[in-house]
Amino acid sequence: MNCPKCNQEMRKGYLFTTKDGAFSFADEVPGLTKNAKNTEGFVEITPIQMGHRVHIEAYCCENCRLVQFDY
Ligand SMILES: [Zn+2]
Repeated sequence: MNCPKCNQEMRKGYLFTTKDGAFSFADEVPGLTKNAKNTEGFVEITPIQMGHRVHIEAYCCENCRLVQFDY
């Protein structure tokens, strides 16, 4: 995969979290006391995986500091 900014080859690898993290996307960041899934525009990017680092295959361009992934 080539970088959409500089068009150079991107490094394939994994985006991963601390041991209890998971990634989501939404219109805004929910407060800590709110159920994140009820936030406007919520999209689950990675499910929580107990006992594993949550991870997703990703491509990185270190020149542009861009990480891209399909979910
Ligand atoms: Zn780039």
